[in-house]
Amino acid sequence: MNVRLQGRGMTSSRTRDRMVERLKKQGIRDDKLLDVMASTPRHIFVDEALESRSYEDMALPIGHNQTISQPYIVAKMTEILLENGRLSKVLEIGTGCGYQTAILAPLVDKIYTVERIAPLLKKAKNNLWDLKLKNISYQHNDGGWGWPEQAPFDGIIVAAAPETVPESLLAQMAMGGVMLIPVGSKNQQQLYKVTRTESGYENEVLEAVSFVPFLSGKN
Ligand code: SAH
Repeated sequence: MNVRLQGRGMTSSRTRDRMVERLKKQGIRDDKLLDVMASTPRHIFVDEALESRSYEDMALPIGHNQTISQPYIVAKMTEILLENGRLSKVLEIGTGCGYQTAILAPLVDKIYTVERIAPLLKKAKNNLWDLKLKNISYQHNDGGWGWPEQAPFDGIIVAAAPETVPESLLAQMAMGGVMLIPVGSKNQQQLYKVTRTESGYENEVLEAVSFVPFLSGKN
């Protein structure tokens, strides 16, 4: 691995191990997921000036008024998404810098990821390419449309909060599929787990969260 990916000091694998210990204390149990979190260099996803803080449990700015989600929430959402086993087709809305994508990629067969801000998507692509993660398709678009050509999806994970769950995303869930999505206004959001069943959609409210708003259109 090259020096940038490997990290040193505050970005070394020892720092990542400490982050993983913290995640365990916070209740994350999935060993495969914890292994991926221990081996994924989160520091390459943030600006160089913030690298030394990249393993703290906090959201950090990634430019364009957006943030990289805190490690705990990435772990939590991934763990719940995969709690019934490996998924073959996952849709991600809100690629951002690509950290959540990097954590999911080794744990699922294929990811379709959509981001509305072009320069962020480009950065994400470069980072994920550097990590040699190839099972990812990218789209620059308003994720409110989902990715109908590739539907249905066994899993959908959304990293920005709409006021209500977009109908098009519900329609693109496979039978038995699961969607994790923060829902609500700026200061009051809940993480929802939506499951599609034969008789409709089941909603479970998991916990209060704080995501950037889900915006329409692209730039
Ligand atoms: N997954 C990222 C989180 C990025 S923050 C991580 O691992 O840290 C959320 C992202 O959602 C931002 O990049 C924002 O531009 C994007 N976003 C917001 N509304 C969107 C929409 N309608 N379609 C696609 N992306 C959207």
